[in-house]
This record gives sequence, C-alpha cells and structure tokens, in this order.
Amino acid sequence: MKILVAVKRVIDYNVQIRVKADNSGIETDNVKMSMNPPDENAVEEAIKLKTSGVVSEVVVVSIGLEKSQDIIRSAMAMGADRGILVKTDQMLEPLAVAKTLKAIVEKENPDMVLLGKQAIDYDCNQTGQMLSALLDWPQGCFVSRLGVKDQTITISREIDEGLEELEIQLPAVVTCDLRLNEPRFASLPNIMKAKKKPLDIISIDNLSVDTNSRVKYIKVEEPPVRKGGAMVADAKELIQKLKYEAKVI
Ligand code: AMP
Repeated sequence: MKILVAVKRVIDYNVQIRVKADNSGIETDNVKMSMNPPDENAVEEAIKLKTSGVVSEVVVVSIGLEKSQDIIRSAMAMGADRGILVKTDQMLEPLAVAKTLKAIVEKENPDMVLLGKQAIDYDCNQTGQMLSALLDWPQGCFVSRLGVKDQTITISREIDEGLEELEIQLPAVVTCDLRLNEPRFASLPNIMKAKKKPLDIISIDNLSVDTNSRVKYIKVEEPPVRKGGAMVADAKELIQKLKYEAKVI
C-alpha cells in the first residue's frame, strides 16, 4: 500500500502574525516557517503504518515556493521515503491545491491521501474535501483514530454529538486531527539521512492545472484591540452595567 501525504509550509504557530503595512496580506518576510501542525500528524500516521508493515511507501508532496523543500526534508527526516515539490510562486486557493494534488495522485496512484484537517494560515478546511470530490473517492475528515485492514479503513471523527465511527473503502482521502497521534521529533542521524532521500521538483506549469483565483482579498486588518475587563461587586451591578452601559439587555 502506498500513501501520499500533503504538507503545507505555513508561518510557525509560535510566531505573532503581523499584517503588511499596506493591508494587502500577512507579512511572511523574515518570519519563521514550519510544517502545518496537523500535516505533521498526517506524516506521523503514515510512518506508523509503514513501521507496522501495512504500508510500503510514504510519499510527501508540497505545493509552494522553492523554500518548501525544507518541510519536505523534515517529513523525510521523520521517516517518509521520498518527496515531491510542485513549485509555484503563486499563493494557491484550496481548489487549485486540490486540483494540483489530483494531478499528483494520477501520477503516483496512492491507495490513500492523508492531509491535515486545516492549514493554520487561512483556516480554510477545504482542500481534503475538494480533493475527495475531484477524485470521486470517499473521505474521512477530522480523523482522530485510523485503522487499516486490507482495502478498508476504520476511522473515528469528532462531530457535535461525540465521536463518529466510519468504515471507508480505499482508495480514500483522510484529513487528520491533532488528536490522531503525537508527531515524533526527527533524530540527527535521520535528518542527515533525509538529505539523501529523493526529492523531485516539478513546475506547476507542467501539470496543466487551472490555478486561477476565485477569491479576491480586498483588505487584511488586525482584529480590534480588546478592552480590559472589569470586576463587579454583585449581580445587581452586573445587570446595571449590561443594561445601561453595554445596552445589551
Ligand atoms: P486548507 O484546506 O487550506 O485548510 O488545508 C487543508 C490541508 O490541505 C492542509 O493541512 C494540507 O495537508 C493540505 N494543503 C493545503 N495547501 C497545501 C499546499 N500548498 N501544499 C500541500 N498541501 C496543502
């Protein structure tokens, strides 16, 4: 069995996000970038399946700038076998990413595609679902447990009422939740070994994918600064404030 894992390079989750001075977007120059956190869970799960003998090959793919090779190498240091970078300087929307991933799926023929449930930069939570629709494959989203048996996977996914258990036929698209596992740290010898693992670089222009934007960003602004809270002596004072100051009751 072969697994394709999609990993996105995003601003590191510890970094304080800054809006560009001209309000055209988010500042990414000289900002620490890392693998999108749920994508690390996707890589970890694929490697666990490989270690348990269920999976024979784990291929990692990222779509983005030349620099995205760093997160592909990180995934290979965790244990992925090889990597593919689909190079583009354009900032792609989830539909364009899903179409590009479909083109890679058609080249690679994996049995399962693992993605993160959501990229923490734009919080879209769309790519996995769109990829599943484009491929006409079943999908399991926000997966917090994954079991594989022959050509069937069993998953648990969080829904409003609790945990939903599903059985899905492969090939399938699975998006991973942070609860799925604890991603490993790559050891120094594995980081060194990852430098020698194969990494193919493809230009997005060679995939004949429509990457046109459907969404236009008009303006990006900082959220308003929150006003400090105040302590009230009792419920009577709270009601007074809500009624006459906040005017919400
Ligand atoms: P999103 O729909 O943007 O929230 O992203 C969901 C998931 O799609 C991410 O966690 C990644 O696994 C995958 N993904 C999104 N953008 C890219 C990209 N440029 N390259 C590779 N994978 C991506």
